[in-house]
Amino acid sequence: MSEPVLSVAGLTRAFSQGGETIEVLRGVDLHVGAGEIVALLGPSGSGKSTLLQAVGLLEGGFGGSIRIAGEQVAKLDSDGRTRVRRDSLGFVYQFHHLLPDFNATENVVLPQLIRDRTHAEANARATALLSALGLGHRLTHRPSQLSGGEQQRVAVARALANQPALVLADEPTGNLDEATADVVLAEFLRLVRGEGSAALVATHNERMALKMDRVVRLHEGRLA
Ligand code: ADP
Ligand code: MG
Repeated sequence: MSEPVLSVAGLTRAFSQGGETIEVLRGVDLHVGAGEIVALLGPSGSGKSTLLQAVGLLEGGFGGSIRIAGEQVAKLDSDGRTRVRRDSLGFVYQFHHLLPDFNATENVVLPQLIRDRTHAEANARATALLSALGLGHRLTHRPSQLSGGEQQRVAVARALANQPALVLADEPTGNLDEATADVVLAEFLRLVRGEGSAALVATHNERMALKMDRVVRLHEGRLA
């Protein structure tokens, strides 16, 4: 079997709150295989976002080991973290974080321009991804002209723009009504599978989690 896209071992993270130390992650071990879609399930406050921020190299202060695409990343400097984020990771958040002054296509083109890709190639890929998500008629709309579900679809296309080995999604449909959330999640999963990326998807929703390849549960700082 090929090496996991993500290997986390003994990951710890504590915060001090009002003079007290709370241990949010107490030794998390997790492997995600190439192309595997794993649900990270746990109630609000259980540490899902904290775990994704560690794996996404967005926050420091962690103990333990994180390997992404075969590279030990826990001790990288800020340039190294930026490189891994850019080359291997895609992100989807609960709120879309699209650039408001750019249209849907431009929001998906921009992350590709740091790659060795012409504007025409980036544009073609953005159009293909957005069309695959049913947004072929929304290519030149700005975020404010799109519905919540459409905004999240653009965010999904943006996350996949550079063919990341691993997509990190933090409650990607948490801001949508249930019917829209179901449709957007199904499209997200279909596209991630089609692209061959792996994904780690944080959710507090058991029903959503069961749609993924495997479910891991965060409980008292460890994965069960
Ligand atoms: P989840 O995403 O599962 O809802 P979080 O990872 O956001 O959980 O938070 C887990 C715990 O860590 C919570 O008790 C939260 O208050 C605490 N926490 C998260 N970030 C910080 C921070 N920057 N400073 C202090 N405490 C934090
Ligand atoms: Mg969270």
